[in-house]
Amino acid sequence: MDSVDNADTLKSLVSTLADATHKARTQNSTLEKKLESSTREVAKLREHLEQVRRDAMTDALTNLANRKAFDEHLEGSVDAAHANGKGLTLAVIDIDHFKRFNDTYGHIAGDRTLVQVARLLEKDLSGEGRTVARFGGEEFIAVLENMDEHAALTLADKVRSAIAKRSITGGDRRRSVTVSMGVALRNRADRSPTAIIERADAALYEAKQAGRNLV
Ligand code: GH3
Ligand code: MG
Ligand code: MG
Repeated sequence: MDSVDNADTLKSLVSTLADATHKARTQNSTLEKKLESSTREVAKLREHLEQVRRDAMTDALTNLANRKAFDEHLEGSVDAAHANGKGLTLAVIDIDHFKRFNDTYGHIAGDRTLVQVARLLEKDLSGEGRTVARFGGEEFIAVLENMDEHAALTLADKVRSAIAKRSITGGDRRRSVTVSMGVALRNRADRSPTAIIERADAALYEAKQAGRNLV
């Protein structure tokens, strides 16, 4: 082989290498772009999933925890109370004569009232060791941890009285509503929430029978 042939071979080799490098760079940049886009997509999906999870646990009208979230929470609280022997109290809260309120002022005013009652409940019945949820319809439920019967009853009555005193904006005029509450303490024997909920419900029934706006 003479030197001219050698130079041609080298030139062609360099050109092939340059082509291959260029191709690899282009492919690399395309892959990088695809990866970036996939990463963005995954982040978006993750965010969406978080939102769906939050929605599944939240009552859409009042923004309080919903029944499902509360049931899960209560299960854990009862287990913990059983393990540490500390007091646990349940309060069920039901708006008085709410059917009549809706019939008189309309469903929209009723909805607004539910939201405002929820905010008042949240003020005193949520935070460290306290959780309140919408149990369904015009009923709410709260769990109070590490609290004895006297403290729980005092707090429940404070909330009841605050709702009765505060006029609620239910449409164009300010109108008041009252709530009745049933409070029950966890017994040593209670290993599941059902029995406590039943006792709180029975206490609520008594409050209704005794004239409403009572704990
Ligand atoms: P009591 O004092 O015995 O509890 O009487 P009440 O009328 O409150 O009880 P009842 O169970 O007869 O009626 C509950 C009413 O609550 C009926 C229903 O229209 C109303 N309600 C339940 N959920 C909602 C809601 O999401 N929005 C509105 N506006 N009303 C609701
Ligand atoms: Mg009810
Ligand atoms: Mg009611």
